[in-house]
Amino acid sequence: MKIGVLGAGQLGRMLALAGYPLDLQFVFLDPATDACAASLGETIQQPYLDEAALARFCASCDVATYEFENVPAHTAEVVGAKLPLYPPAVALTVGQDRLNEKKLFDALNIPVPRYMPVAARGALDMAIRNVGLPAVMKTRRLGYDGKGQAVLRKPEDLDDAWSRLGGAEAPHTPCLVEAFVPFERELSCLAVRGRDGEMRFYPVVANQHRDGILRVSIPQQDDPLQAQAEDYARRVAEHLNYVGVMAFEFFVSEGQLYANEIAPRVHNSGHWSIEGSECSQFENHLRAVAGLPLGSTAARGHSAMVNFIGRAPDNAALCAIAGVHVHHYGKAPKPQRKVGHATVTANSEAELQRRLTELVALVESVAS
Ligand code: AMP
Repeated sequence: MKIGVLGAGQLGRMLALAGYPLDLQFVFLDPATDACAASLGETIQQPYLDEAALARFCASCDVATYEFENVPAHTAEVVGAKLPLYPPAVALTVGQDRLNEKKLFDALNIPVPRYMPVAARGALDMAIRNVGLPAVMKTRRLGYDGKGQAVLRKPEDLDDAWSRLGGAEAPHTPCLVEAFVPFERELSCLAVRGRDGEMRFYPVVANQHRDGILRVSIPQQDDPLQAQAEDYARRVAEHLNYVGVMAFEFFVSEGQLYANEIAPRVHNSGHWSIEGSECSQFENHLRAVAGLPLGSTAARGHSAMVNFIGRAPDNAALCAIAGVHVHHYGKAPKPQRKVGHATVTANSEAELQRRLTELVALVESVAS
């Protein structure tokens, strides 16, 4: 079976690496000249809206998916009209727009931080009166890794945030403002839903960000919020008639979950599952998309994942740490860019902590 993937970044690369043992083949569509999945399958290097490229893409595969959530809606419509597209295009419509996401969470009775849409400078003052300070202003679309965001702590911050995100530099960018959550933890729940509606859930993952970029993910054992996170993820997945892996990111404040966002795709906070679970998020996504029975989402021992940001340590230093599994994405070093990750596994919590401390120190010593 040939799987068409919209996007050919590191997530596409890891999907292909998981798919080859299952005898799946891949075709990618991505406009980038240096897409890092390109060496793993036929790659159509054209814009997402190029009609000839879309026709070629659809003619080359049996079923389509995406690894990039900002695929234009028209692309998803064209592909979805010709082929089974999983997750369905509606998941993109929701996942691409923070306001759509929040409205859906509200409709499904999933708690969210207070928020208000903001389309003009005047509306920002009103939104802040409603939401309060501190708050976070975010562009509704195209934000990632902390980009398209500003923290508002005092009234004087509003002008600057507006001119940066919604005003002079990017006129008429629809934004929203949400309450700043003084969270104790950030958790994500990775769920997979098969074509037949069966759902499985990975252990929830505790995520540590810096400068809006994910640094470390640690799957939790028997977390008290596991059942609640699964319930919320199930509500969203069933509502969207979802097929594939979905990531749901939460803030934990006073022991309660508050929805932050969903990603309608495999997710960075699930990379640990390649070595740390029975069946990785990448394999399970492909199983769902291909109509195969889902694999076990159970953890195998203890594990944690550390991102290489900007630059990766050299292999000799990484491989010298016991239990480390290295993943380079084939990307050129660049400040703030995710260029790879490592997962560290161990048989006990204490051993994991020792190895993780060593790995984090090594990764941080070269990060930029
Ligand atoms: P996001 O792109 O929305 O996932 O935001 C990136 C990171 O910024 C989050 O993982 C948090 O660490 C931080 N952040 C975003 N929104 C809020 C908020 N409302 N309150 C506190 N921290 C936030």
